[in-house]
Amino acid sequence: MAAPIPVNRIGGPLEVGLHQDGRRLTPQRRKVLELFERIGTGTHLSAEEVHHQLVQEKSKVSLATIYRTLRLLVSMGFLHELELNEGGHRFELSSHDHPDHHHLVCVRCGRTEEFESSQVLDAGRIAAEKIGFQLIESTLNVRAICPKCQ
Ligand SMILES: [Zn+2]
Ligand SMILES: [Zn+2]
Repeated sequence: MAAPIPVNRIGGPLEVGLHQDGRRLTPQRRKVLELFERIGTGTHLSAEEVHHQLVQEKSKVSLATIYRTLRLLVSMGFLHELELNEGGHRFELSSHDHPDHHHLVCVRCGRTEEFESSQVLDAGRIAAEKIGFQLIESTLNVRAICPKCQ
């Protein structure tokens, strides 16, 4: 599957909250997006967690639908997807207020912590420039084991 173009980095859909693109979404898709907007940036949810949350809000929606919806929201630039090996996939809100950041991920429980590093950004920029690639983003996912799981 081709990587989605992260339009959010360069004038993104969430600049003014749920803008036109968001309003075009079906009610169910909007519900998923609104959940992420409610919890705010910096929270990383799995499809199961999103499903659990919506079921608690009395939404009759299958996990398969949630998966499809999350993929769609990623491809539209509303969400950002983190690919973790053992922990599966997690999703977070794309936002201008929450620029390029990196993740420390516990491979046992999936706990995800964010950090910022200008060195990582610089390394990505320098590497891209050297080979003549146009940079889109530089993010680092560090797989680790959290204190609780050690
Ligand atoms: Zn994050
Ligand atoms: Zn852990």
